[in-house]
Amino acid sequence: MIFICGKNFGRVQFYLLGSPLFLWRAIHNALPTTHRLHKIFPHISPICIRCALQEEDVQHLIFGCPSSRTVWFASNMGLRIDQLPNDFSVIVKNILNDFQEDHRKMCFSIMWQIWKGRCDFYFKAHQFDVQSVIEKAQLTVYPKLQNVLIKQRKQHFDDKYELEKDMALLITDGSWDQKGNMGIAAVVYDPLGCLYNQVSKRGVAADALTAESNALLLAIQQAKSLLRVFTKICIFSDSQILVHCVNTRSVQDVPSWQAIQVVQQCIDELSDVQTITVKHAKREALLMAHTLANDARKGDGDRLCISQNQQDLRASGFFVWSLD
Ligand SMILES: [Zn+2]
Repeated sequence: MIFICGKNFGRVQFYLLGSPLFLWRAIHNALPTTHRLHKIFPHISPICIRCALQEEDVQHLIFGCPSSRTVWFASNMGLRIDQLPNDFSVIVKNILNDFQEDHRKMCFSIMWQIWKGRCDFYFKAHQFDVQSVIEKAQLTVYPKLQNVLIKQRKQHFDDKYELEKDMALLITDGSWDQKGNMGIAAVVYDPLGCLYNQVSKRGVAADALTAESNALLLAIQQAKSLLRVFTKICIFSDSQILVHCVNTRSVQDVPSWQAIQVVQQCIDELSDVQTITVKHAKREALLMAHTLANDARKGDGDRLCISQNQQDLRASGFFVWSLD
């Protein structure tokens, strides 16, 4: 049970959440984020361990970090992250005042699960899995959802994609704007449907199809490097023409000469492997890669891939302390 009380909120609120102190700590800037740890222990880097792009203060931790943004985006909570105030306690106040009870609980539950997921990533090197963060938050608020979620996951990964038992899934998408900015992303799920890895990059491209081809090339290269881990990998792209060209090993139907070069690279990369297949999927199925690609296009640098980040952390013998 969490008890929030103070001038800021004008009224007393009770919430059933996982940790009695979490929200209080977050509002009073007392969570041991790397930003805060850095102030106490200067040898600890203040940079966010999940994205390595910005300092990890509470605002970045819960809302700003690309992986947190993906959680909010995918949670259908209707929070417009781009338009949120930059002050965490103001956001909490708004949620308390403007949201209905169910949504309020859900928001706080998601915050708590983001923090838990981040700590598991930090201390136990567990993957930060967006889907499982959302599911755990949903289950806290609606315990009876368990059966529905299990069913959904089964449908998502079995029926829709007809996955073979030992097949990993790699979804990819490219994002492009009129100024020529490009964002590309690849997201890997293991054969059980758990998020394994994600990588996104920013660049320039002449047109949308070239961006899409670059995303596919990134995915193929990622897939090849993962063949040590998984025996079979299926790549999904929402570009029918690219999937067709790669599968027929022909660039004949590619309408853009800039894209042709990249598609040819994709074909060359695939020439010596039989265990990577490329299939078409509807855009809705690529939501996470789509979000990451958009974020990368608008952002100012490449995202570090999570597993690589973890290896870096382990290799550097990064200082850790346990919270609980
Ligand atoms: Zn971050």
